[in-house]
Amino acid sequence: MAVDPLIELRDVNKYYGELHVLQDINLTVGRGEVVVVIGPSGSGKSTLCRTINRLETVQSGHITLDGQPLPEEGKELARLRAEVGMVFQSFNLFAHKTVRQNVSLAQVKVRGRKKDEADQRSGVLLERVGLAAHAEKYPAQLSGGQQQRVAIARALAMDPKVMLFDEPTSALDPEMINEVLEVMQQLARDGMTMVVVTHEMGFARSAANRVVFMADGKVVEDRTPEDFFTDPESERAKDFLSKIL
Ligand code: ADP
Ligand code: MG
Repeated sequence: MAVDPLIELRDVNKYYGELHVLQDINLTVGRGEVVVVIGPSGSGKSTLCRTINRLETVQSGHITLDGQPLPEEGKELARLRAEVGMVFQSFNLFAHKTVRQNVSLAQVKVRGRKKDEADQRSGVLLERVGLAAHAEKYPAQLSGGQQQRVAIARALAMDPKVMLFDEPTSALDPEMINEVLEVMQQLARDGMTMVVVTHEMGFARSAANRVVFMADGKVVEDRTPEDFFTDPESERAKDFLSKIL
């Protein structure tokens, strides 16, 4: 597996003061792979995601995207942020912009597209996430699930090499979770490289190539979903699974 690595973390360590939040992390995400990251609260899952687009810096180790070390600043860093699409628990849409404007904005500002071209691309992406009919509405007129799908379209509009999802359905009412997971499933089928932090084990089983289980800042298991769910090796994973399944 992972013959064509898109993301590589080698011996990555990160501290917040005394807290050793990422401990000797080694992780490879292959092109087109879907890696689901699970683990107890506080185990470092969000921090791991944030190091990949350099929202957080690390104290030691190496991270590469598509063979290149992560840029430290300036235009290169802005481009990295575009190439690593990120979807959070909170949608962070601009309240006073329409759905289409939300998806178009960074295309113009970061990618330098003309407004018409950006709007057209936004239309295509909104269609893809099932929201073509809502393009001229404002975020407050949409449900949480619809807003999260706009956030996904907005990230896709940057033509990212990889999409990071940090608990994208955790803030949603239960009846809205599936519409977001279905969009993510489709993305996975279309070959997008994805790192997904989630508690949705059904998604992990059906969409993940690998499950990475983290605890206390370490990668404890890194295996296929079949292996992980049927036969977790570590006590930490057994304990975690017994609580959530
Ligand atoms: P998870 O996403 O798995 O719940 P996080 O990556 O958010 O875990 O956090 C890992 C640990 O780092 C936790 O103990 C958390 O309290 C701590 N932490 C996260 N962000 C910060 C920060 N900005 N400053 C200090 N500690 C932090
Ligand atoms: Mg988190």
